[in-house]
Amino acid sequence: MENTKFRKWLDEMNLDHPLVIAGPCSAETEKQVLEVAHELKNTDATIFRAGVWKPRTRPGNFEGNGVKALPWMQKVKEETGLLTAIEIANAHHAKLALEFDIDVLWIGARTAVNPFAVQEIAEAIRGTEKIVLVKNPINPDLALWIGAIERFFKMGVKNIGAIHRGFSSFRPSKYRNIPSWQIAIDLKTKYPDLPIINDPSHITGNRELIQEVSQTALDLKFDGLMIETHCTPDKAWSDAAQQITPKRLEKIMDSLRVRKDTFEKEEFISKLDAFRNEINDKDDQLIETLSERMEIVHNIGKAKKEGNVAVLQSVRWQEILEGMVTKGAEQGLSRDFIEKIFKAIHQESIRHQERIINS
Ligand code: PEP
Ligand code: MN
Repeated sequence: MENTKFRKWLDEMNLDHPLVIAGPCSAETEKQVLEVAHELKNTDATIFRAGVWKPRTRPGNFEGNGVKALPWMQKVKEETGLLTAIEIANAHHAKLALEFDIDVLWIGARTAVNPFAVQEIAEAIRGTEKIVLVKNPINPDLALWIGAIERFFKMGVKNIGAIHRGFSSFRPSKYRNIPSWQIAIDLKTKYPDLPIINDPSHITGNRELIQEVSQTALDLKFDGLMIETHCTPDKAWSDAAQQITPKRLEKIMDSLRVRKDTFEKEEFISKLDAFRNEINDKDDQLIETLSERMEIVHNIGKAKKEGNVAVLQSVRWQEILEGMVTKGAEQGLSRDFIEKIFKAIHQESIRHQERIINS
């Protein structure tokens, strides 16, 4: 991939802060759109986002106003000077977005997974000068993400960037979509000129975590942030829990530390921060798994009480321990380490069941 013109555009903007794309998850009404846009005019936001067609997990939820909302976006631009951005998910959306002169078109995570859909959109906007931002696919697949970006390059789209919005996972997590920072770092390493924007709103699903995820993104030298913003977030028609007011956006932007350009040492700190974040996530998962395990232990304790069975089942315990030691060895974990951990877990389980049986 050649240099993207979007990088040049960004450099020429000469912002003293990361690029900010802000606006509501969905364009709900003309009034809501204009209200939030006018408030955003006084923040660091350069680009106003709003979902016009909304990909909803289940039918029956608000699916966007569609073409009716496109003139609202034009009004935003006329009245505030903010550039406009919408999601396009098929060739029809693409054509309408061009017709209504929307400045930035983004490809959603559910579309980025589908090469047919991406190809169709790329062909519909062939040669466009508009900025096209490709969100990561919902599954953690770097090749699929790169493939989607390449389809636009091949159709002569030069103003191109990526949006990192996290990946879905079956594992419990404090995030709506786990960030798996390494995948975004791999994309940056492979295509250093491709601007990459972080979307802490869809990563966290929770407005309380937006600040810390944004900071991690800046520590990793992301070029910008896409943050869902609403004047009355709790009343939003979609993604209410993750939206913030323009005032809060301003506060978050003021609090963020932007690192100076790279020294080797800075890069080292950034990497360290990313690893620390991953460790924190793993530790959260460990605690959740331990607590889920203890719930099962609790139910076994109740069954043992009913059946008047002894708490300590030595044969079963020996089986568990040996099984874990073997598994651990396969993963490069020593017998001593596994034994210590599982003995501690077992002791706590026994204590717990003792209490139930004697209650
Ligand atoms: C959005 O930005 O509103 C959206 C639907 O995002 P994603 O495609 O990342 O889920
Ligand atoms: Mn959303």
